[in-house]
Amino acid sequence: MVAAVAAGGVVAAGQTLAAPLTAVSAEPIASSTLLPVAETRPAQAPPINAIGGDQLPLDPLALGSLDGTAELDVQNLTKAVDIGQELARQASLLDAARADGAKQASLVGNEVYVNPTEGRFTSGFGSRWGTTHQGIDIAGPVGTPIYALTEGVVEEAGPASGFGLWVVLRHPDGTQTVYGHVNRIFVEEGQRVDAGEEIAEMGNKGHSTGPHLHFEVWDEDGTKLNPLPWLQDHGITP
Ligand SMILES: [Zn+2]
Repeated sequence: MVAAVAAGGVVAAGQTLAAPLTAVSAEPIASSTLLPVAETRPAQAPPINAIGGDQLPLDPLALGSLDGTAELDVQNLTKAVDIGQELARQASLLDAARADGAKQASLVGNEVYVNPTEGRFTSGFGSRWGTTHQGIDIAGPVGTPIYALTEGVVEEAGPASGFGLWVVLRHPDGTQTVYGHVNRIFVEEGQRVDAGEEIAEMGNKGHSTGPHLHFEVWDEDGTKLNPLPWLQDHGITP
């Protein structure tokens, strides 16, 4: 009997609240969890057969605060649930991007970016030795993992003049990223890669004076950008 009254109490609340709550959750509510509501609001119990208690997608913890301002409360609750779900979604995207070992990951819009490798920043973009250095250099031991900066498709994977071996990725916004002097390549041309996926390992091939990653960022039209501010704009500090 007590449980039946409790279910009725939920209906009283649900009559004004059903619409904004339908998207929140489909979890059934155990009638035993509704006892406090029944004890404090017995007068409002409508006929018990109006609706089944298990049809109400309502968090029982929220019921205690239902009163004249209940609709506002529920909108806030719905917003809180939405925010919670969004934070969980973002956390899982960042976790997935770090699954292969990338230490830094950053979310920009819906795209995740990682630091392409870990090491010592040894050379920047611009004039060097009477020529123009089109990327940045990050030095480390041969075999250090190199990760896809963000999701994309493998445009090139193999030998390249000066770079020994390289990988070029094309990303959804049209940007391309270049990974040069690599020792071994773990992807093939045409393959789709996720943000943070290990695509190669650091090497010393081609015109290189020590093991390092030579990293470039090309704009959609092929213009070679300074990778450092570009990475910083995407939440990454090499
Ligand atoms: Zn370089």
